[in-house]
Amino acid sequence: METMERLAQLGLYPTKDTLPFWEALLAGSLVACQCANCGRFRQPPSGFCPGCQHSAVRWQRSNGAGVIYSFTWARHGFTPDLRDRVPYAIALVELDDAPGIRLIANILDAEEGQVAIAAKVVADHRNAADARIDFVLSGTADV
Ligand SMILES: [Zn+2]
Repeated sequence: METMERLAQLGLYPTKDTLPFWEALLAGSLVACQCANCGRFRQPPSGFCPGCQHSAVRWQRSNGAGVIYSFTWARHGFTPDLRDRVPYAIALVELDDAPGIRLIANILDAEEGQVAIAAKVVADHRNAADARIDFVLSGTADV
């Protein structure tokens, strides 16, 4: 199945600037959009660097390690498929190797009390076929 067809099935309609991100997720890897001129990372991906106004882009593969910048717990399943999953943690994850990039993601296999600001996480690609990036806890906060 073509990438665009699969993404459309998932309700995702990438632009030319965001397509490499979604293609990588479907292939089971995480990439970050970086300015090829000044090196600044940016999310969402765009064809214009807010730092130097350059249009050249490169895609850096991330090792998926990061920390929780912020989080919340979802306690209500708004759709039938979510009703069996609550409660689950939704976090803003800051990537270690792509400063400035923060991704909204689920923290899988976590219990309440384990999820904390600055807790270490790593990308989990078990839902890659759904173009989803999730994270799992990999350590406690260094605070
Ligand atoms: Zn730049």
